[in-house]
Amino acid sequence: MANQCTRLAPSPTGALHLGNARTFLVNWLLARRHGWRIILRIEDLDGPRIKSGSAQQAMDDLNWLGLDWDEGPVSQSSRHGRYQEAIDRLINQGNAYACACSRREVELAASAPHAEDGAAIYPGTCRGRFATLDEARRQSGRPPAIRFAVPDRTLIVKDRFLGDVRFNPAHQLGDFVIAKNDGSAAYQLAVVVDDADMNITQVVRGDDLLDSTPRQMLIYEALGLSDRIPAYTHLPLVVGTDGRRLAKRHGDTRLSTYRQRGVPAAKVVQLLAGWCCIEATSTLRRPADCISRFSLDALPRRPIVYDAADDPLLKD
Ligand code: GLU
Repeated sequence: MANQCTRLAPSPTGALHLGNARTFLVNWLLARRHGWRIILRIEDLDGPRIKSGSAQQAMDDLNWLGLDWDEGPVSQSSRHGRYQEAIDRLINQGNAYACACSRREVELAASAPHAEDGAAIYPGTCRGRFATLDEARRQSGRPPAIRFAVPDRTLIVKDRFLGDVRFNPAHQLGDFVIAKNDGSAAYQLAVVVDDADMNITQVVRGDDLLDSTPRQMLIYEALGLSDRIPAYTHLPLVVGTDGRRLAKRHGDTRLSTYRQRGVPAAKVVQLLAGWCCIEATSTLRRPADCISRFSLDALPRRPIVYDAADDPLLKD
């Protein structure tokens, strides 16, 4: 497969923790093993949640671990014009419509999709309700968000790790936000425009984003880019002992914290390699040492449970 390209796409909403690091490591190992190019993309559209300095921190953390990239960083915040073109086109084609539902509801749907409780399916209240954006604004007295109108048909995500996963967007996902009511692009739209513009052919990410994939495929189709839909690889996540996605409540597993505490990067690499079923010998010190021993097929099919209260990285 010539000219393949992937991306590392950190959201600078907080520091990288062991869960993110493991996903980035697998992405990087696949790329380096198969000769894919890597673009670093900073996903900094989630306004209020972006922490200043986090983008630099993410790059420092990746470098510390030994993960590099061939192009970038490219920041989503610098690409507003490209997103707007796509949003306008989707509205003009009738694929998207103005939604004047409450701000809280819109925020829940528009935020980068990390809600573990599964956001409610939007019931389509505003579909067909307003002829134009202006009309939505005038009638509701508030600026509208824009939602993509999903079809009632089956879509198959052909995942390299999970196999075929079937979705009916109308029943399982509902009409989703592509632009927030402040006019900025939402995650689903920005990712597709970026992946298409950057010629991304391989998307490797956590399986918490699996249900974003049919949404993104629909956007590709509507933009006339069906032939550009990337290959997808969704990985089981690292979870805490309660089975939930690794997060602050499980303890501090930020790479920057280990680094400050004097934990060598090699020890972190060995732990992450173990989670990829690579035997963690003492000669294994850098991600590059894992390339020839890595196999996607060997990855565990279930989430990796990490007990931060009994953290092996903090033991001698
Ligand atoms: N920025 C997202 C994250 O940090 C990744 C989005 C994607 O890979 O599509 O989880």
